[in-house]
Amino acid sequence: MSKTVLIIGGGVAGLEASGVLSKLGYTITIVEASDRIGGKLNRWANLFPTQRPAEEVLNYLKFQLDPNTSIITNTKIDDISLGKTQVSATLSNGNCIQADAVLVSTGFEFFDARKKEEYGYKIYENVITSVDLEQIFKDGKELKTSQGKTPKRIGIIHCVGSRDEKVGNTYCSKVCCVTGVKQAIEIKERIPSCEVFNFYMDLRMFDRHFEDIYKKAQVEHHVQFIRGRLSEAFENPDGSVMIKVEDTLLGKPMKMNLDLVVLMVGFVPSSSSVFLKKGLQLETGNDGFFTPADEHYKTVCSNQKGVFFAGACTGPKTIENTITEARAAALEIATYLNQN
Ligand code: SF4
Repeated sequence: MSKTVLIIGGGVAGLEASGVLSKLGYTITIVEASDRIGGKLNRWANLFPTQRPAEEVLNYLKFQLDPNTSIITNTKIDDISLGKTQVSATLSNGNCIQADAVLVSTGFEFFDARKKEEYGYKIYENVITSVDLEQIFKDGKELKTSQGKTPKRIGIIHCVGSRDEKVGNTYCSKVCCVTGVKQAIEIKERIPSCEVFNFYMDLRMFDRHFEDIYKKAQVEHHVQFIRGRLSEAFENPDGSVMIKVEDTLLGKPMKMNLDLVVLMVGFVPSSSSVFLKKGLQLETGNDGFFTPADEHYKTVCSNQKGVFFAGACTGPKTIENTITEARAAALEIATYLNQN
């Protein structure tokens, strides 16, 4: 009988690792808490930096899944423990699973923007998040204010829930700068006359082609970039939103009226991390993300034998980094199972 691997989380990392492990001859069970596999890709229209449809990557991940893979959706893990050579898990559907190794690929959640009450999310109708905006793009809907008007001025606010001591998240979420630039371009492509302002702390355009789209946003679409942090937002009687920002380049406070405000929400650890940390006795950092066995050369291994990591459960990362890590985790698991 082939050895078995339990994969917790059927997002990008879990699916990619599953495909590789199946090809290597292992029997895979994926347990996914939501109603479908694919994770956040299901909610995204286009990916940075090229605006490639997210569906293409999702289709690739599904296509390379082995048909014999057991995929259990809408199911959580109620109990999990480590034996000497096996992992035992009790599922919320009442079933029990024993596996020779486990891959934690629980990903991340988006920061709940309601925690920044001063920004007015879910209080003012014309304050939305980057996730809401992407859903509008995905649904093919027209971008309108809550009053049904085409917005003339939109502000994109970077670092919402990241690099923010007030909410306890001091880390950078890495991909929201480039997402903010991508979404600014997409707004301008839909409404060329709309003025778009990105309010940023620093622009972290670290990867290949990121600088290109930053330049494109400025040169081709005239998106304006203002270095400053939003302090507060207020709703005007007509439903538009007045924001107060400190322009940190000019050293001056400024006010601006906007028809729509988009909050670029960052990554936070998956809510399942606390439970898995306890059950599998895993280590996490102060930020709540899992800590790998070594931050340079054992990034997919945990502090426990037989437990591995892939993807954003160890911190914010891009899809390509997640896929690369999932492949590395699959090979690490195969090596472990061959030796045990
Ligand atoms: S990637 Fe940009 S927007 Fe996101 S937390 Fe880092 S600096 Fe802020």
